Amino acid sequence: MTDPYDWLQHSLLTIHRADWYRSVQTIHGLPGATVVLGGEEVINFASNDYLGLAGDERLIAAAVVATQEFGTGSTGSRLLSGHRELHGELERAIASLKQTEDALVFSSGYLANIGAIAALVGKRDLILSDQYNHSSLKNGAILSGATVIEYSHCDVTELKTQLHQQRQNYRRCLILTDSVFSMDGDLCPLPALLDLAEEFRCMLLVDEAHATGVMGATGAGCVEHFGCTGRQLIQIGTLSKALGSLGGYVAGSHTLIDYLRNRSPSWIYTTGLSPADTAAALAAINIIRQEPQHLMQLWQNVNYLRTLLLELPNLKLLPSASPILCFQLPSAAEALQVGKQLKQAGIFAPAIRPPTVPTSRIRISLMATHKTTHIEKLAAVLNGI
Ligand code: PMP
Repeated sequence: MTDPYDWLQHSLLTIHRADWYRSVQTIHGLPGATVVLGGEEVINFASNDYLGLAGDERLIAAAVVATQEFGTGSTGSRLLSGHRELHGELERAIASLKQTEDALVFSSGYLANIGAIAALVGKRDLILSDQYNHSSLKNGAILSGATVIEYSHCDVTELKTQLHQQRQNYRRCLILTDSVFSMDGDLCPLPALLDLAEEFRCMLLVDEAHATGVMGATGAGCVEHFGCTGRQLIQIGTLSKALGSLGGYVAGSHTLIDYLRNRSPSWIYTTGLSPADTAAALAAINIIRQEPQHLMQLWQNVNYLRTLLLELPNLKLLPSASPILCFQLPSAAEALQVGKQLKQAGIFAPAIRPPTVPTSRIRISLMATHKTTHIEKLAAVLNGI
């Protein structure tokens, strides 16, 4: 009889052979535009902390005070012993930022996506999903039991054809899309998606994980960026990127939020967000609203780096309209090699490989706290590779 766990080792070997093996790298100290990685200080282009708030002393102080006042854990589901006034305050702040009637906070963005999707559609329903959507949207779709059809990335014409052919065969239809695509940096065609959703009586769920605090004049996200505030849709986001904390949210109508509180398994059957995470996210939203200079600085950095990278003729830069800038490499091995060369030069910008993405690349994410010298060094090192 063979060992029933033998296959794990074989599977790992296959992953190694394809150059797809992954392992963790330890960061020491506070997160920031520079971090200590493997004992060396490197410029950090690998973080989703777009506004540099994860190490901000005001978020840290808010988390400490909330922990002292309310304890480390929230001790139960929000529907049992886990609800605090702080949760309500954060939900009102998110709804106010997004200009929606209401919001609901989950323990992570991943849980918000799978919980909302599984609550909104089931076996008799159809999901149409962009092929480059985040794993949490894809797995939420599978979990829901609905029929899932992926449409080509941002292809509104193909989506419309699918709607013409399929819509009438299903009870409800849900269109799923990232607003900023996390591994490419481009944006979904939101106004056209909203028009199609209205025309075919579909719900539209937009994942604003990389857009919250980043896109739009006030950092409310791509819905604001595209001038779609107030239109009917379901917005999901995370508290873990520009908001520097941990957790996720759904923002939308009172009815939607009330329904999710009653029907979303990953909200009902999990412990409420910790007081520290809740307070830190609330402090971040207050900073975003009162100090627009962080958002302005982030975009100055994005535009400066984009200008410098466009001057490098051999760099295959992917189209991007966000602080995520990626360039393609012919293979996973070459992406790993470039990632290594960057690290040797004091720059942390990781290789992203299949199966996460269809083609290997280096992913650069900008922060408001990057200095001009950091950006110029990245461009100079890439020019020499
Ligand atoms: N959606 C997208 C587009 C993401 O990039 C991520 C995080 N990588 C998530 C959802 C999940 O968010 P969280 O980290 O809060 O679980």
